[in-house]
Amino acid sequence: MNIHEYQAKELLAKFGVGIPAGHAALTVEEAVEAAKKLPGPLYVVKAQIHAGGRGKGKFKELGPDAKGGVRLAKTLDDVKKDAEEMLGNTLVTVQTGDAGKQVNRLYVTDGVDIAEEYYLSMLVDRATGRVALIVSTEGGMDIEEVAHSTPEKITTITIDPAEGFMPHHGRAVAFALKLDGDLNKQAQKLSKQLYEAFMALDCEMLEINPLVETKPDSSGAANLLVLDTKMSFDGNALFRHKDVAALRDETEEDPAEVEASEYDLAYIKLDGNIGCMVNGAGLAMATMDIIKLNGAFPANFLDVGGGATTEKVTAAFKIILSDPAVEGILVNIFGGIMKCDIIADGIVAAAKEVNLSVPLVVRLEGTNVEKGKEILANSGLPIVPADDLGDAAKKIVAQVKEAA
Ligand code: ADP
Ligand code: MG
Repeated sequence: MNIHEYQAKELLAKFGVGIPAGHAALTVEEAVEAAKKLPGPLYVVKAQIHAGGRGKGKFKELGPDAKGGVRLAKTLDDVKKDAEEMLGNTLVTVQTGDAGKQVNRLYVTDGVDIAEEYYLSMLVDRATGRVALIVSTEGGMDIEEVAHSTPEKITTITIDPAEGFMPHHGRAVAFALKLDGDLNKQAQKLSKQLYEAFMALDCEMLEINPLVETKPDSSGAANLLVLDTKMSFDGNALFRHKDVAALRDETEEDPAEVEASEYDLAYIKLDGNIGCMVNGAGLAMATMDIIKLNGAFPANFLDVGGGATTEKVTAAFKIILSDPAVEGILVNIFGGIMKCDIIADGIVAAAKEVNLSVPLVVRLEGTNVEKGKEILANSGLPIVPADDLGDAAKKIVAQVKEAA
């Protein structure tokens, strides 16, 4: 699960992490009120969407010369104008795809006098079973590009969760960022606080880009501040973080994926035209592979789980068909926990209810498979039966080609 920048910053602040002051706003009036609470003279109005690249993003409704989704404002009037231009409009960034995302929330924050922009992130490295802490002096820009063309500018520090965050990890971060004196100490402290937040909140990923060093103030003191952050959480751990779960913003998620989660279906939309309904993640992966092997592309990943009831199968059909790109459906179900005849009943009932308009190939295997096939054959529906996975994939690809 992802959350907005302002929410992530509020969470991090509880761990002592330095963030610029700021307030969220849902309306133009709230944005101006938010700015009034800040000291000024520089404000930053930031679009809150679950995607990065906002600064360089473009609003669909505004011309190509209009400013992007992160704007510096020098007066309350400018804050008002920016809020008016951003709220309700669609921001397209490198991470949103062409459709973009509608901006429904803003974050109005203190303008910071930036001396340097750094990069810092943490994620669960499944290969090592450890937390990877990634830092670079090249923050603020496209980190993928830095990793690609100048990989030596990226340092990875691994932390064994059994050992925890040690002082040497903090020193390694400060060294990689080439910081001296007080800033060096700040980097050590900050990286420890971030690790504590990462573990305590069961994060999957925490990215700070940029982490900034401020220009020295009148007394010569500079600070490290988190200027932008992205945070995502392990969905399986959310049950123990009710406060984090409450931050979910479903308007930012794919509506079909939200609906699928309500039925406890694991659904992920993909780019192809063959809808898949499968039980078990492994079988779903294999089904997608074999569709590709036959020259077509899956429209989704969908795991209906072990107990595929009629209700679930119907919901799954509706979700698959809500995708206008779907030109055929392949059902591949292994009747283990559920018997094939019960699944067949579910498929027939669901196909009738949704008024199936695209070819449907069904491959059933497992307990009571003969009974199941009989039910499909006698249903009066144009269901194409398949004997095995290879046969099923060939048939659905052929059916879709024929229908085109
Ligand atoms: P995104 O990564 O989505 O483009 P950021 O929050 O990183 O959004 O903002 C983009 C750039 O805007 C930053 O790299 C930084 O240079 C500038 N910026 C963001 N927030 C502030 C701020 N509070 N004060 C000054 N500059 C800012
Ligand atoms: Mg950023």
